[in-house]
Amino acid sequence: MANDYYGVLGVRRDAQPDEIKKAYRRLARELHPDVNPDPATQERFKEITQAYEVLSDPEKRQMYDLGADPFAPAGGAPGGGAGFGAGFPFSDIMDAFFGAGATSRGPRSRARRGRNATVRVELDLSECAFGATRELVVDTAVVCPTCSGEGTAPGTHPETCDVCGGRGEVNQVTRSFLGQVMASRPCPACGGFGTIIRRPCPECDGDGRVRTRRTIKVRIPAGVEDGTHIQLAGEGEVGPGGGPPGDLFLEILQRPHAIFERQGDDLHCTVTIPMVAAALGATLTVETLDGPRELDLRPGTQSGQVIPMYSLGVQHLNDSGRGDLVIHVTVETPAKLDEAQEALLRQLATLRGEETPPGRFAPGQQGFFSRLRDAFNGR
Ligand SMILES: [Zn+2]
Ligand SMILES: [Zn+2]
Repeated sequence: MANDYYGVLGVRRDAQPDEIKKAYRRLARELHPDVNPDPATQERFKEITQAYEVLSDPEKRQMYDLGADPFAPAGGAPGGGAGFGAGFPFSDIMDAFFGAGATSRGPRSRARRGRNATVRVELDLSECAFGATRELVVDTAVVCPTCSGEGTAPGTHPETCDVCGGRGEVNQVTRSFLGQVMASRPCPACGGFGTIIRRPCPECDGDGRVRTRRTIKVRIPAGVEDGTHIQLAGEGEVGPGGGPPGDLFLEILQRPHAIFERQGDDLHCTVTIPMVAAALGATLTVETLDGPRELDLRPGTQSGQVIPMYSLGVQHLNDSGRGDLVIHVTVETPAKLDEAQEALLRQLATLRGEETPPGRFAPGQQGFFSRLRDAFNGR
């Protein structure tokens, strides 16, 4: 038998139910966490409540007298039985005596977690693609160096509140059919802190922190894009009363690039080539994020053709590999021809039998004409 419930409540083994109830009430008022917030007292309070829970129930009391304890560790019940099964919740009994919400809250701490902050970081495309290091200047709050976060003037400390005796709560006692019912509310004198700062620290006005400007060096990983948030845990402002810091978030803004348009981790750009080069094929030099690269155009390259340059796009975020650079080819038709050029082209047209070209539809392509056709077909 783990617990001596009669001893805990200070009653004889043959005590009548109302004696048990009286004993519990007397002890509960004395040991209630609202009155005595220290852990040892709270433990005692739990013990007497357990004892009362068993001894106030005739059936449980009888079983207890026979050697079963509902609060003993599992398997402790004699005969391998399940004992009492689950007792009703601990808080129920407290609510019954003290009104709902009377469980111990204790004084609230002055220390609270600092707020999160967000800083916007503008990057150009290649910084997004390859990562970057930035020194950021952030307006933030740090622990007050004068009071180390306590909020009190040098040489002083928070004093226990006289009104609530340090509990941070005051009780209001009302009578009900159960007897006296206590309800607690935050102490108006100390605001629920349980302590009063009589002489606030002159540097921080009792807040425990001071505002400052801080420079932090951050490493931005490769692959971020417009709108990416990077969390820097604990780099936000410290909380009031020496509370822990919040987080700092970096929000990435990607500056538009003059040539490349980003789609996911691929980059797209348009390269214009002269008509003759498209017909004959050529090797071009194109700008990439990795510097100039050669691009081979096959003879007969068409306008609108798409040529991928693999792994020259943006590095995948938190992953190996890169997107592609996708070249969209536009074939440029010469707008002005001198006499010699015109003569050459006419000669070419004759050779190809193209003096009076028919003009052909390109069926099946999702271009303007097919969309027009679909519109006529009622799709
Ligand atoms: Zn201070
Ligand atoms: Zn108080």
